Amino acid sequence: MNSRTKKFFSYYKPYLGLLSVDLACAFMVSAITLALPLCVRYMTQVLENNPPDVLYQIYTIGAVMIGLLAIHTVCNMLVTYQGHMMGAKMESDMRREMFDHLQKLSFRFYDEQKTGELMTRTTHDIFSLSELYHHGPEDIAISLMNFIGVFFILIHIDAKLALIVFLFLPVMAIYAFYFNQKMNAALRSSKDRIGDINAQVEDTLSGIRVVQSFANEAIETKKFAYENDRFVESRRAGYRSEAYFHEGLFAFTELITIAVVVFGGVAIVDASMSLADLLTFVLCVGILIDPIKRWVNFARLYQEGITGFDRFMDILEIEPEIQDSAGAIELGHVHGKVTFSNVSFAYKEDQDYVLKNVNLDVRPGEYVAIVGASGVGKTTLCTLIPRFYETNQGTIYLDGIDVRNIRLHSLRTNIGIVQQDIYLFPGTVFENIRYGRPNASREEVIAAAVKANAHDFIMELPNGYETDIGQRGIKLSGGQKQRLSIARVFLKNPPILIFDEATSALDNESEKAVQQSLEKLSDSRTTLVIAHRLSTIRHAQRIIVLADGVIEEQGTHEELLVRNGIYARLYNVQQNLIS
Ligand code: ADP
Ligand code: MG
Repeated sequence: MNSRTKKFFSYYKPYLGLLSVDLACAFMVSAITLALPLCVRYMTQVLENNPPDVLYQIYTIGAVMIGLLAIHTVCNMLVTYQGHMMGAKMESDMRREMFDHLQKLSFRFYDEQKTGELMTRTTHDIFSLSELYHHGPEDIAISLMNFIGVFFILIHIDAKLALIVFLFLPVMAIYAFYFNQKMNAALRSSKDRIGDINAQVEDTLSGIRVVQSFANEAIETKKFAYENDRFVESRRAGYRSEAYFHEGLFAFTELITIAVVVFGGVAIVDASMSLADLLTFVLCVGILIDPIKRWVNFARLYQEGITGFDRFMDILEIEPEIQDSAGAIELGHVHGKVTFSNVSFAYKEDQDYVLKNVNLDVRPGEYVAIVGASGVGKTTLCTLIPRFYETNQGTIYLDGIDVRNIRLHSLRTNIGIVQQDIYLFPGTVFENIRYGRPNASREEVIAAAVKANAHDFIMELPNGYETDIGQRGIKLSGGQKQRLSIARVFLKNPPILIFDEATSALDNESEKAVQQSLEKLSDSRTTLVIAHRLSTIRHAQRIIVLADGVIEEQGTHEELLVRNGIYARLYNVQQNLIS
């Protein structure tokens, strides 16, 4: 058994009890399904013989049948309920494993993956797997037992007639599989078509402002109608195969029944068969359609489930690129010395280096600004410190310890980043700020908001700190979101701070205010500020100018102006723009 197969079966492990109950009930269901025609047979034989206690016997058989029916029903209910519950629990185990795993995967993974695709894997793929997990064993058990049972009963009653019935079966099975395949293909294609329709609606509605401003509604309608028509076509093929499948199978069973009745009738005339036997035959033939339907169903479940499982494992088998090394340590008190030693970095193997042999020493508590043209690698430089990406060459040290030897959780709790792309979670303002330190008190949350110059605007929101800023909630401006994310980091209160263009979306007024609190906060802790507007970092202790992957210039504002290099040029351009 290969490792994936082992893994596949391993999800049953916690539920072997449930699985046994499920299978035992399935066997009971099947056994009783087979017993009922035998009861009828016995009853008919009794009627034929007409013994003195005939009424008593009829009532007894009736009572037995009611008893069997009751057990049958209970077992069927258990199969449906327990089986589905087992499936749901296995599904939830897998989904949880997937979720935990996804959270461990590194930035590089997410650079290339679409979240929508990952959502499908955690919902749709795992669901089709759970269907296979619980219906699979049931279908196999019940269909095998029904089939074998009917086979022996028929052979026992009349081998010749049984042969006729079993000659029909392969044809019936091939017919069923063929149309089932077509039905499934059509189902898949209509799912794809639905996907296309959704994509089309999303494209048009996301760009609705452009559509309307160019008055291109008719063009969009045409594109939509095309997708919509394709959907109808895919459904047509599906419904046609469905009609063939169900009604064809039904006709086959009826055909077998008619053959049995005719040949059986002849046999009764010949006195080589009794009426009781013929009746049993007819009833048993009716049971045969069930295993075929179950096999066909199982084939579909198997196909979809295994595909789902492979896709699930494809993700699960991805090793997180960045994880704790063996013997990684927990940081104690952090002074905040950050050192880059010959660091080179590229996002992809075949791409140019974004950073080339960078050396940088940031003293504990130093306030360093990083400037440079857009796309020069400022953000990249900062993301290497918390180890969002691994360096290609060189080493980054925190307080002299290689960051690769520090436990990720410890490293990252000691660094606070206000990222360039701000993300706020659906929920209230309060919850979003408290995300910075989930056990913070209300007072601490408010204090952080005050420091981030966010308190005043929060108090003006309809519900203050309880205002919902989720998808259906209040819309915040870029500057307001920025201040909330700054408050979040203020609350976290780490010894090392990184602000990636954190004030770029603010108007002049709030920029100044945030600037002030930022300076207050950065007091006595290492701070790296990436700034677009150079006026905001004039007072930095050191300004680093990145160009072409290397540190071109560094020094204070005044020193760099005197040097009259890149910084001086950038600064003068911005000054001229303002004046
Ligand atoms: P800056 O912050 O200075 O504007 P970045 O550090 O964001 O620049 O980007 C530096 C270079 O790396 C750019 O050429 C950018 O296109 C590229 N880059 C940034 N992020 C990624 C990524 N996740 N995957 C691949 N390339 C990236
Ligand atoms: Mg950037």
